[in-house]
Amino acid sequence: MQYDKRYWNTQKEYLYKLGGFLVHIASPLTRQELERFVDVFEKTIFAIQKSPIKHFKKVLRGHVYVGTKADICEWQGCKHLPPLVNGQYSQKFKVVNYFIDGYERRNPYLTMIHEFAHKLHVEFVSDGLDNQEILDLYDQAINGEFVCDVSKLPKIGDPLSDFQISYSYGSPKNTEGFYLTEIEGVVGEGAVYTFMGKQGLGFSLNEKSIIRNFSCPSTYGLHNHMEWFAEMLTKITIDGVKNDFDRKLLSIIH
Ligand SMILES: [Zn+2]
Repeated sequence: MQYDKRYWNTQKEYLYKLGGFLVHIASPLTRQELERFVDVFEKTIFAIQKSPIKHFKKVLRGHVYVGTKADICEWQGCKHLPPLVNGQYSQKFKVVNYFIDGYERRNPYLTMIHEFAHKLHVEFVSDGLDNQEILDLYDQAINGEFVCDVSKLPKIGDPLSDFQISYSYGSPKNTEGFYLTEIEGVVGEGAVYTFMGKQGLGFSLNEKSIIRNFSCPSTYGLHNHMEWFAEMLTKITIDGVKNDFDRKLLSIIH
């Protein structure tokens, strides 16, 4: 990428190319802010290119805005923008925004994958937000109607990484090196599963939370079907396809 000091410090609305994107610099940025953005975006692009969701690559073009919330919203209006965000997809303008003054409640590249998932949903899924199969799957997810096949629950010796998503709004959970060593209770009727790591560290998961990880990756995803869809795509992009529920969603998108 070519930097031109005259612009990133002084100009509003300076354009440059990043991959297939036309980037609009909407606020004066420090070099550090610009490099941080490029770093986050390159990670995001890489993750989406490697995603098991093949059609996800379609979002890797178009317009991206970088700047403060105030400057970007002055141009776009930004209705209904929650206060604690560092990225946003604008349905009205069909652009992805990256806020340099956003609040980072999780790694910003996960937020960007989430925002690009909104773009996929609105612009590239048939019927967009009205896609009935996605609405139905969301209903199943939040109502716990996804019947968990007991054979899919963890068995002694299984790695934790197959059952526990590795990111969250807090610190990322490192699931590597943990294996199921003990099951208490009756499998399929609320058993508790204990996973142990190499250093004698261990923790337990109840069946309900394991099943919920199959279909509802975060509480934020329970807000509405758009957020659920974006969280599911983020989960699958980061953690891969783990179960029939993930496969069902992919079959709708593909
Ligand atoms: Zn969202």
